[in-house]
Amino acid sequence: MARLKVLVAAPRGFCAGVDRAIHIVELALERFGVPVYVRHEIVHNKHVVDSLKAKGAVFVKELDEVPDGATVIFSAHGVPKTIPAMASSRGLAWLDATCPLVSKVHRQAERMVEAGRHILFVGHAGHPEVIGTFGQVPAGFITLVETIEDAETVEPPSPDNLGFLTQTTLSVDDTAEIVATLRRRFPAIVGPRGEDICYATSNRQAAVKAIAPRCDLMLVIGAEYSSNSQRLREVAERCGTKAHLIQTAAAIDWRWFDGVATVGLTAGASAPELLVQDVIEAMRARFDLEIEEVTTAVEEVTFKLPRELAA
Ligand code: SF4
Repeated sequence: MARLKVLVAAPRGFCAGVDRAIHIVELALERFGVPVYVRHEIVHNKHVVDSLKAKGAVFVKELDEVPDGATVIFSAHGVPKTIPAMASSRGLAWLDATCPLVSKVHRQAERMVEAGRHILFVGHAGHPEVIGTFGQVPAGFITLVETIEDAETVEPPSPDNLGFLTQTTLSVDDTAEIVATLRRRFPAIVGPRGEDICYATSNRQAAVKAIAPRCDLMLVIGAEYSSNSQRLREVAERCGTKAHLIQTAAAIDWRWFDGVATVGLTAGASAPELLVQDVIEAMRARFDLEIEEVTTAVEEVTFKLPRELAA
């Protein structure tokens, strides 16, 4: 059997916000019984969604699919203000699984608009977190900046009274460049001290940066539509390492391993550890493995549950 060295990134996988969101659905099923409705994927991972479906969660796209009298949970990515308001007006019981670090950005957005500032928001168009944050303030008070080109060309309505905020799951390096461009063009712009990229996103990217240069191939476990997982793949590629995003071990094309002596392994913030161990076992069936876990940070973050479930 050929030898294969595996460098496993740490931290990887579930963050405190994802852990909390899943726990909220599980507790709601226990307390309120089956079914509990969840608007949108609670986190961007099919394995997580399927296992909650098996326990009695029903995933819907919009509130009008939730029957009267039911309980509905909003996903970790956050929702526009209109959604809880609509749920309340229909008399639905609702629970908010928005990650507290996303809620923090929501409050910052509100405060900026209260202070009369226009917000330049760095993020990816169409991502649920961006839709949720835009929905915290009146239309016309916030403009999306996706790229460095956008930062160079954006013409906000009040250039001397601006604030910036960012999505939590962006590339640390790209965002620093975009923010630097905004600060150069609009010296009076105010914003968070660094940006709003969360600890979990930063730590996972730093862990990939630490191992990718030592690897011939990097595997990132995560969904195609998971922003933080896509960023991990990009970070590895920018280190010059071939990288693939896979949902599960079944997605591995073993031809990727031709000529590979060292493979790196990580997982996005919504991917469970079980999927990491499955990939390791799939490699073990084909190679004589030497596994090294490379730890670049130790995470001890936990978030409180919503009041309704805390007792
Ligand atoms: Fe919260 Fe960050 Fe996890 Fe998103 S990736 S749920 S912002 S901790």
